[in-house]
Amino acid sequence: RLVLGIETSCDDTGAAVLDETGAILGESLHSQKEVHLRTGGIIPTVAQQLHRENIERVVQEALERSSVTPGQLSAVATTVKPGLALSLGIGLEFSLRFVRQHNKPFIPIHHMEAHALTVRMLQPVAFPFLVLLISGGHSLLAVARGVDDFLLLGHTLDEAPGDTLDKVARRLSLIKHPQCSTLSGGQAIELLAKDGDRTRFPLTTPMGQTYDCCFSFAGLRNQITMTIMKQEAEEGVKQGTLLTCVNDIAAATQHTIATHLAKRTHRAILFCKAKGLLQSNSPTLVVSGGVASNQYIRKALTLITEMTGLHLLCPPAKFCTDNGVMIAWNGVERLREGKGILPPNVDVCYEPKAPLGVDISAEVKAAAIRLPS
Ligand code: ATP
Ligand code: FE
Repeated sequence: RLVLGIETSCDDTGAAVLDETGAILGESLHSQKEVHLRTGGIIPTVAQQLHRENIERVVQEALERSSVTPGQLSAVATTVKPGLALSLGIGLEFSLRFVRQHNKPFIPIHHMEAHALTVRMLQPVAFPFLVLLISGGHSLLAVARGVDDFLLLGHTLDEAPGDTLDKVARRLSLIKHPQCSTLSGGQAIELLAKDGDRTRFPLTTPMGQTYDCCFSFAGLRNQITMTIMKQEAEEGVKQGTLLTCVNDIAAATQHTIATHLAKRTHRAILFCKAKGLLQSNSPTLVVSGGVASNQYIRKALTLITEMTGLHLLCPPAKFCTDNGVMIAWNGVERLREGKGILPPNVDVCYEPKAPLGVDISAEVKAAAIRLPS
């Protein structure tokens, strides 16, 4: 059985063909990151236009590289939620035309479910497991109980950590830094933080008095902006000038984000243990999303999993970010279980906002679990 996966939820046009064992027969990915880096953020109409220009070629390439014809496919799986409306629309419109033309079943995919399940393509990981998804658009903790069966323990109340890192990097004009001109905000901050003193600019970890598993980064970003403004005044330079203390600000930013993520994850682990929500023999935490490639953040999470006896799994960076492979894999998993397979003539709408699974964050909050100090 062969599945074509198509991803256009944000700024990557991706396609891939997988067989039912998860072997990648062919893939293609067109990234818009460079364009958006130049404009200082994603402009939805620009993203839409780039998806429109590239989708046909990307899908063709994935098929050619896999030496699979449309007729040989068992199904087409496409991201339909959540994401940028204009971007989702292009992938969905293309896919619906494609499945009608070739008379193939259609499998609508939840982008975050795909991120959460990707690890199972690479190694056997049994349900249920805990998953932390941290990217440019998302921040959530969930229990994956099965394909199509998730408990949402916590989510961000404002922005996502990757977005925060990108905005801080932009405010610091890191694009002007000789070592950072081609890096994403998160990569730039990770690199600069290596030579920084994280204690020079103390930042308060968010939500210290809220005993749940939700996240917040907007207030932290405000703290960082204030710090930057104070330093600009002290150095007597205008906004947009590369400060001499960027390494220290990067280190403090990265450390505080890592601490926040680790604390929420720690509470989620304790909640899951108390409720018996994880595998008893080998409880596992899966971490994915673009921010998961940050080594400092991984180390912070490793400390927590070692302390609580969990097994930490993190797919290689290539599989942590957006691509067609993870969408095709989600299609394979759904096809295996016969979940959410639709006929070719179906009419499906995209959903820019769509929570993952059943939201039990209120129950988590009510449990008010205190972390050991
Ligand atoms: P989503 O997956 O939520 O739709 P996205 O496309 O922005 O959103 P990804 O492609 O998974 O997400 O990840 C991109 C984000 O990851 C960016 O915000 C980027 O700054 C961040 N990132 C990439 N590398 C690192 C790193 N080494 N450390 C921290 N953050 C990183
Ligand atoms: Fe993503």
